Amino acid sequence: MTDPRRLRPATQLVRGGLNRSPHGETAEALFLTSGFVYDSAEQAEATFNNTISHYQYSRFANPTLTMLEERLAGLEGAEACRLTATGMAAVHAALLSHLKTGDRVVASRALFGSCHWIVSTLLPRYGIESVFVDGADLDQWRAALSVPTALVLLESPSNPMLELVDLPAVAELAHAAGAVVVVDNVFATPLLQRPLEMGADVVVYSCTKHMDGQGRVLGGAVLGSRKWVDEVLQPFIRNTGPAMAVFNAWVILKGLETLKLRVDQACRNAAAIADFLAERDEVARVLYPFRADHPQQALALRQMSAGGTLVTFDLAGGKPAAFAFMNALSLVDVSNNLGDSKSLATHPASTTHLRIGAEERARLGITDATVRLSVGLEDVADLIEDLAQALDSLAVPASRAAE
Ligand SMILES: *Cc1c(COP(=O)(O)O)cnc(C)c1O
Repeated sequence: MTDPRRLRPATQLVRGGLNRSPHGETAEALFLTSGFVYDSAEQAEATFNNTISHYQYSRFANPTLTMLEERLAGLEGAEACRLTATGMAAVHAALLSHLKTGDRVVASRALFGSCHWIVSTLLPRYGIESVFVDGADLDQWRAALSVPTALVLLESPSNPMLELVDLPAVAELAHAAGAVVVVDNVFATPLLQRPLEMGADVVVYSCTKHMDGQGRVLGGAVLGSRKWVDEVLQPFIRNTGPAMAVFNAWVILKGLETLKLRVDQACRNAAAIADFLAERDEVARVLYPFRADHPQQALALRQMSAGGTLVTFDLAGGKPAAFAFMNALSLVDVSNNLGDSKSLATHPASTTHLRIGAEERARLGITDATVRLSVGLEDVADLIEDLAQALDSLAVPASRAAE
């Protein structure tokens, strides 16, 4: 029999973790049950003693959740995986299960808004020191990691400016400082970037994004070594209860079957759209990791296998142009979500990154003219036509320009 762990990603996505019931169903079964029953009081006792393996309660484990955990672990090349209700519950559990009062955390500044809040606001309440660095600047990482540190959190590429962190270099500095390295790999997906092979210890996902990929359910995942998951993460999850809904796990299992097809196509669409936008006068700059004008293209080519499904760009006319552009879109929707089969446009400064404040936005390079585009699965020619007509609408009419 083939070692299931050695199967290639496309196969893992369809077959990984499949555990059929005695009925021999084709599709993954949905075990929509909160609890489980025992043959006898003795069997219940043996279960709670850990002398036999038996499902107990869906807050701890459930057969549908196990199938998704096994599928994600096989895909990531991780020893173990635990699921959570949302991506934020995954980040929260990974951090709070590991940290204690007096610890120190170093994080890249360019984090998803709620991750930024956990590090900047929540952790200090528990006496955990937090230090932010510019993720692209290795000298800042080196300085921040010159003292003992418990945990490093980073996101690469980052939201929304698609800034990269040199994963092997930062992992080496972090390990020398005694830290575990937690990578939020949502933007890259497990298919485009493999953080564990580059030195990360823990990888976290919002399954809400590309894994469901069709805008239906929330979910999160944490992956790491068997020892860390069993000894550090699992007691925290079991006792604090951020469990993923069983129905959502089933939706995500079925979503994964098409993940590679969807991500590959969305990457092709995104690369074509980035090239189209870069040629337009209404666009002041385009950020896409695989383009030659991305400041970290060489790093992107080293650690990612494609440029991703997001394109970020600045309009030449400031916030009025950004809003007029978004309002003129007829196919692409205005939304703060991403990783969906439907293309979605976001104005980060007034939505996802409103609460971090103008000063922090300026540090991250987010301007009032910045638009983030999550590229979906529509025909790329239709997407480019929609973007083109929205950009055309920004042009000042000749009669008014003359006034
Ligand atoms: C969406 C997202 C999260 C949070 O996930 P939820 O499922 O919305 O809780 C965390 N990190 C990144 C990079 C994200 O895009």
